[in-house]
Amino acid sequence: MPQLSERVGTFTDSVIRRMTRISNQYEAINLSQGFPDFDPPKEMLDRLAEVAHEGPHQYSLTFGAQNLREALARKQGKAINRTIDPNKEIVVTCGGTEAMMCAMMTICNPGDKVMVFSPFYENYGADAILSGAEPVYIPLVPPKYDFDLDLIEDGFKKGAKAIIICNPSNPCGKVFTKEELQAIGELVIKYDAYAVTDEVYEHLVYEPYHHTYMSSLPGMFEHTVTCNSLSKTFSITGWRLGYLIAPESVVEGAKKVHDFLTVGAAAPLQEAAVTGLNFPDSYYEDLKQLYTKKRDHFIAGLDRIGLDHNVPQGTYFVMLDISKFLELPQFRGYTDLEFCEWMIKEIGVAAVPGSSFFKEEVNHLIRLHFAREESTLDEAIRRLEGLKKLLE
Ligand code: GLN
Repeated sequence: MPQLSERVGTFTDSVIRRMTRISNQYEAINLSQGFPDFDPPKEMLDRLAEVAHEGPHQYSLTFGAQNLREALARKQGKAINRTIDPNKEIVVTCGGTEAMMCAMMTICNPGDKVMVFSPFYENYGADAILSGAEPVYIPLVPPKYDFDLDLIEDGFKKGAKAIIICNPSNPCGKVFTKEELQAIGELVIKYDAYAVTDEVYEHLVYEPYHHTYMSSLPGMFEHTVTCNSLSKTFSITGWRLGYLIAPESVVEGAKKVHDFLTVGAAAPLQEAAVTGLNFPDSYYEDLKQLYTKKRDHFIAGLDRIGLDHNVPQGTYFVMLDISKFLELPQFRGYTDLEFCEWMIKEIGVAAVPGSSFFKEEVNHLIRLHFAREESTLDEAIRRLEGLKKLLE
């Protein structure tokens, strides 16, 4: 057989998505890959049913249907208190995943350094490899997931072209404060670089924390490529609708990359998504309340069992500390991946091994998500009690 490219040998498949496949195989409760088990808003589904008969069913404009870009410009413009030009400053993509890949391919030359916080969402590693960029990792140090600004300045001094900021952060649930973003932003401007943000959990931020948009900070719109998605906000992860917002000079390049990568996102789904973007602000408040309840409910369950975990400020992820289990004789020498595989088969709950998010050697954390109906979360907690029994 002729050889494949060297590129594909340099990264693995996504462990997050692999855990979903294993979970399905064993019919476990899937708390690994984050996506809801409940329906999108009814109004969007009704609109989708209409669109099935009315269309559009052919390509939209490659960089997104006009009405969707206008709706996005309205919503996100209000969020950052700046007028966004729907024709020149937005590209609609196939999910946040394509937005991020497109951003990286648009701004990076092979060999360019890009700073990535660790822990990180695993896609960034593959994005860097596929765009030819070289990741430079900046630790987010538990338990508060603080970072050392001097390391970021060092990175820029050594020529880093960009810094990727996942805010709220997958997997650790950190919500960057305005002051933290301002400090990073000042460095981005000083060294004439880019901030590439992944803000797909922008509406899943719990009191008393608040989401600050990097592009809303003084002077930062010109230096920020905002990657975002409708997946989490409207519970439509399978619709694959994302977008990128950036200054015109970046968007011009991103439109070309996107055009040749995918041509465009699904036209009927773009049309139905406009209905969601026209919801009143109360929709986002209700979403926050819904997830706050789920978070508190799930965490109370973990506490009842006595499992050690963090409390996320944002996102729908919780990190569980499995150190005390790895000390038991039956798990000696287990990797976190092996522990997760065991947990799927024997406990019936799927998680993602923490090592797939960290540059550092980390083997004692696993990630669970709580985007599930409360009854599903209750059943997951009931099953997780099986872990506690191991310690008795
Ligand atoms: N962001 C989700 C997670 O971390 C998954 C997104 C995806 O699989 N595209 O689980």
